[in-house]
Amino acid sequence: MIGFVAAAIAAFFVLAYFQAPILAWTVAGGALLAYLSMVAAFGSTTNIVLGAVFLVVTALLNLRPLRRLVFSDPVLGIYRRILPDMSQTEKEAIDAGTVWWDADLFSGKPDWNKLLAIPAPRLSAEEQAFLDGPCEEVCAMTNDWEVTHEYYDLPPHVWQYVKDKGFLGMIIPKKYGGLGFSALAHSAVVMKLSTRSNALSVSVMVPNSLGPAELLLHYGTEEQKNYYLPRLAKGLEVPCFALTSPEAGSDAASIPDYGVVCKGQWQGKEALGMRVTWDKRYITLGPIASLLGLAFRLYDPEHLLGDQEDLGITCALVPTNTPGVNIGRRHLPLNAVFQNGPNSGKDVFMPIDWIIGGKDYAGKGWMMLMGCLAAGRSISLPTSSVGGAKGLARITGAYSRVRSQFKTPIGKLEGVEEALGRIAANTYMMDATRIMTAGAVDLGEKPAVISAIAKYHMTERARRIVDDSMDIHGGKGICLGPNNWVGRGYQVIPVGITVEGANILTRTLIIFGQGAIRCHPYVLREMRAAKDMEGKAASIEFDDAFTSHIGHTISNGVRAFVHGMTSSRLGQVPRDGAAETRHYFRFSSRLAAAFAFLADVSMLAMGGALKRKEKISGRLGDVLSMLYLVSATLKHYEDQGRHKEDLPLIRWVVRDALYSAQYAIDQILSNFPVKPVARLLRWTIFPLGMSFRPPLDSRNRECAQMLLEPGIARDRLTAGMYIGKGESDPTGVLEAAFLATIACEPIDEKLRKAVKKGKMTLRPGVDLGTLAREKDLISQDEYSQWLRKETLRKQVIRVDDFPQDFGRAEILARLAQERVPTAKAA
Ligand SMILES: Cc1cc2nc3c(=O)[nH]c(=O)nc-3n(C[C@H](O)[C@H](O)[C@H](O)COP(=O)(O)OP(=O)(O)OC[C@H]3O[C@@H](n4cnc5c(N)ncnc54)[C@H](O)[C@@H]3O)c2cc1C
Repeated sequence: MIGFVAAAIAAFFVLAYFQAPILAWTVAGGALLAYLSMVAAFGSTTNIVLGAVFLVVTALLNLRPLRRLVFSDPVLGIYRRILPDMSQTEKEAIDAGTVWWDADLFSGKPDWNKLLAIPAPRLSAEEQAFLDGPCEEVCAMTNDWEVTHEYYDLPPHVWQYVKDKGFLGMIIPKKYGGLGFSALAHSAVVMKLSTRSNALSVSVMVPNSLGPAELLLHYGTEEQKNYYLPRLAKGLEVPCFALTSPEAGSDAASIPDYGVVCKGQWQGKEALGMRVTWDKRYITLGPIASLLGLAFRLYDPEHLLGDQEDLGITCALVPTNTPGVNIGRRHLPLNAVFQNGPNSGKDVFMPIDWIIGGKDYAGKGWMMLMGCLAAGRSISLPTSSVGGAKGLARITGAYSRVRSQFKTPIGKLEGVEEALGRIAANTYMMDATRIMTAGAVDLGEKPAVISAIAKYHMTERARRIVDDSMDIHGGKGICLGPNNWVGRGYQVIPVGITVEGANILTRTLIIFGQGAIRCHPYVLREMRAAKDMEGKAASIEFDDAFTSHIGHTISNGVRAFVHGMTSSRLGQVPRDGAAETRHYFRFSSRLAAAFAFLADVSMLAMGGALKRKEKISGRLGDVLSMLYLVSATLKHYEDQGRHKEDLPLIRWVVRDALYSAQYAIDQILSNFPVKPVARLLRWTIFPLGMSFRPPLDSRNRECAQMLLEPGIARDRLTAGMYIGKGESDPTGVLEAAFLATIACEPIDEKLRKAVKKGKMTLRPGVDLGTLAREKDLISQDEYSQWLRKETLRKQVIRVDDFPQDFGRAEILARLAQERVPTAKAA
């Protein structure tokens, strides 16, 4: 009997672990039963009863029509009753975009070979030349203090350069006069610009994100494309896209703005058109836009277009010089000075062919927006966050070496080191995620869930990095002025958190909510069978999806348990992966199985209510997100050629992500509404307790060290950012001071020792270097080197001060002379 029980348990684990087909379970069951009747020497009646039960169960499981009749169809009936109805806009949002690596993670069995086989994204020579040429140039000509304090906008010559060089048309194909860049190049440009000026990067980012160009490319009529795309590419049109209104922010599908199809006078003739009324706010580039992409709900009460009266959300392109369009006023979003403001119109008549795609696309606006959302969301905010991270990593490391307190560079004080190490490691992970996500877009994906993960986590990590950087800079980060390189970043970070799907909503509603339906191997099939199909077709489809779903859940549960019992030793590792990261792939396999099991059981236990349980779904989203961030980090290490110096960063990132995921699971289990199920889940997922540990302090030190030393690891970590040139540039002087400080450290050491040994006595008003030179303790060359370092250091630690009016009167007078129109607004 012991042998039978052992064989039965072993068979269960093996079959479940490998998600064996029902037939394999049947054969194993038959063999076990035969073995049992042999060893137990049952009487013939018992054998007959057991055999009959086995045959009935076997028939039920293997004969599909019977299985459907007895099992799947009743479940389908219940499922249909409890599955909440989805609105058309919800459906369109859920269906939008594609699934990619997120589906592998959701399966609970990510194939790491597949991940590493995805080619590493690369820039073309032309794209690299653009980054090294116009992109460097525009950064050099942009002075962020001038932008934010004097012009309250990009200066006119910068705007002109941006338009002339095609920055506004990076996503527009060459045949329309655009740059036709890859997503990776688009991302590299926005990243570099973000390391120089927020207004510069946002002004370039928005026309290349979800807006008129992207919508025209996918849905525009030939006439619309041929007219607008070349003009947008060359900056002859400045576009904006207006969806948000005072009543509809996150719930954008509920916009009250409306248009009514009607006939009216257009250019002296009667024309079919719409009278549109809208009131929008927060629209980036709106105040200076010449072309307004407008979303509103279209109604056709006179049936001029067809039978339907409420056609739905519609997108149109409206030249802003159209009579009745009110545009031009500005918001001031936390002192960020990219152009942003409200616009409105009342009963503005516009021809029907202003609808993007023409009248056939009336009412299809939400589908169009959702369809195009993922590409822009994969790039804009994730990329600008990485730009911010790289810039702050480099300058904060440099500043921490230049700035000393308690006779020690502050970066070497453990408390500062902790923050610095975090900055370095997060920057590595963010860049890895940026590249992998842009690479997905270049492979033709519109990764809906991944773009939400990238948007949420990159902006949140950027917020963490800015906070760390501000703390390290102390007062120097707080007092704004031309010599403050961190304060403006701190001011604008909430903008990234709020736009393109505010972060709380993105975390709690989109990442897991959309992921559970789109990325799950069976849920969408079950939902479609229940809601969109009928009769036999629905029965067959549901039966197949549902029974596979059960096998999938059991398999993931068993795999999570086995990995938990064996410290992930059986977890899959990539064939050609580096030896030093193999255990991280194993751990991630364990986490993926645990996540998939937990996700399924949560959906089963909470059903439709899980949508409202945002604390649970947010944490489930966190686990999925951590798996994606780890995947990107490990792949980046491989794609970059396994640089051993980067290993501390990888170790910190992976441990931090696994630990965070474990924390999220623990929180879910502690708050799981069905307590016995929570206990079962805990035993399955953490059979030997919670084993993932946070990053070690020693790793944190190694990460911090990378930012405190010039070298290849630091350069690789911050590659692609703009580094200020020359000592008149605030970040240029910091870089120079950093190098000078390090070069001078042996001299400083000499001076310290001389004081300690009493070889020189400090004199008020005379600096150490001069004293040492007087006593011939250092050479003239050393003295010159020390003086130069001191000059640079003093420049770096200097904080700006202003006259009472912060110089506004003088600035306004100068701008009036230059006749800069936006200065008046300022
Ligand atoms: C500087 C700036 C630039 C912008 N540019 C543009 C633009 O060019 N075009 C455009 O159309 N719009 C633009 N927006 C609008 C932006 O997309 C919205 O601000 C955003 O959608 C959030 O809307 P809201 O500000 O009204 O916040 P609300 O919708 O009022 O949200 C408030 C809070 O509630 C949370 N929340 C809402 N619903 C849920 C939910 N179901 N579950 C959990 N949490 C939820 C949100 O996450 C947020 O934290 C811009 C906004 C800003 C500030």
